[in-house]
Amino acid sequence: MKYYDKLIFELSRPGRRGYQLPVDNYGEDALGSLPENLMRKEKPELPEVSELDVVRHFTNLSSKNFGVDTGFYPLGSCTMKYNPKINEEVASMPQFTELHPLQDVESAQGALELYYNLQQALANIAGLAEFTLNPYAGAHGELTGLMVMRQYHKSRGDHKRTKVIVPDSAHGTNPASAMVAGLEVLEVKSKPNGSIDVEDLKPLLDDTVAGIMMTNPNTLGMFETEIVEIAKLVHEAGGLLYYDGANLNPMLGKVRPGDMGFDIMHINLHKTFSTPHGGGGPGSGPVGVAKHLIDLLPSPHVAKDENGKFYIEYKGNNRLGSVSAFLGNFGVMMKAYAYILSLGKENIKNVGPMATLNANYIKESLKDDYLLPIAGVCKHEFVFDGLKDKSGGVTTLNVAKRLLDYGFHAPTIYFPLLFHESMMIEPTETESLETLDEFICVMHQVAKEARENPDMVKGAPHTTLISHPDETAAAKKPILSYKQMKQNA
Ligand SMILES: *Cc1c(COP(=O)(O)O)cnc(C)c1O
Repeated sequence: MKYYDKLIFELSRPGRRGYQLPVDNYGEDALGSLPENLMRKEKPELPEVSELDVVRHFTNLSSKNFGVDTGFYPLGSCTMKYNPKINEEVASMPQFTELHPLQDVESAQGALELYYNLQQALANIAGLAEFTLNPYAGAHGELTGLMVMRQYHKSRGDHKRTKVIVPDSAHGTNPASAMVAGLEVLEVKSKPNGSIDVEDLKPLLDDTVAGIMMTNPNTLGMFETEIVEIAKLVHEAGGLLYYDGANLNPMLGKVRPGDMGFDIMHINLHKTFSTPHGGGGPGSGPVGVAKHLIDLLPSPHVAKDENGKFYIEYKGNNRLGSVSAFLGNFGVMMKAYAYILSLGKENIKNVGPMATLNANYIKESLKDDYLLPIAGVCKHEFVFDGLKDKSGGVTTLNVAKRLLDYGFHAPTIYFPLLFHESMMIEPTETESLETLDEFICVMHQVAKEARENPDMVKGAPHTTLISHPDETAAAKKPILSYKQMKQNA
């Protein structure tokens, strides 16, 4: 371990200083006015380090992390595309960041205009009538959308509809959101090719079904070609269709969920519309609805009057209450708006085809070494079921760890649950041919290593600071302070 990679407390030496505030300028009065019981009795336990030590320590630490700005990040289902820096510039303009959510709307017309225009742009892209930008993330959008679905049935006196159908390939947030919204989950099976089994769906559709949640393309990256038939069946049974928009990237500007027959959807602005979001970073999950559901969207909502003035609407007839503080995560919306405007109406249509081309290029280039359970043209992502030659005992986890040694982030692994050794790869549209070729080359190399030297691959990664953390303990019993670490030791 390099010296500066140590914990900052280990770099500490008594009396070493970075910067010392001048003591006398404040005088005794500043401290004297503090009540005695609030005064510190002992010195705080802080590392004592020089400014140079601190700068080197944190600069070195920052290079230990992996991000889209560091290298290729083929994490399927997450759409880790490049986030143009102009988005950050726009989002940090003081004209926006220094606004207060409670200031007079007269003095915040520009921000409200951006908000309103984004609502409209998303509605156009989705083929739906209206959007709320309030929810904070995809899962929060799902909950909001399902609350709209419930409210719709309730408002019509249809109280029996308490079940929601979710495919067995669905993202885990779908059944979880349904439970939180107070709906019972019914599972519909996928066919061997990954699409929904319409014959399995039909018997589930009765007058207790509130609706179905789907994503299209589905989590295997395959377009649900029977969507029109599915929409017809669900609508005839009195249910609504919810579109999980996390896979909107390959559809952008090409196909609209509203045209496929969906009534409600969310969009993950941080995925499709580019905000850095690794490690649970800031998100936004706008929810759009078809015309007959507009009145059910949550408050507050931004609207425009006849004179072109923007205002904040707090109530509609049946609107849900608030689902967020004020209007939601404005910083992410600014980035999404900058992204949409910088692409423009024409170029936005190139996102889907390029993402699709990149995914198919990788899939076809690697299928001699990796097991492709579902052949055919995929959309933005696809799934391998581990190595083709599993005789050396090298698993998907081992391959994922080995990739880190080569400077690539691992793909999503062991999801979807349909296969034992799932490896889900999504390159997005923003990667160059050279990057894709390098990744393909390394994946072939790892497959070769797995045949010739499986133990070395099983021991990977060999170059990272941490190699095999106990993931359960890291999540359930995180050690977040030096004190805690010393107590545990
Ligand atoms: C990411 C994702 C979600 C959840 O979205 P968050 O913004 O992470 O809450 C839901 N469904 C699918 C298919 C996803 O990929």
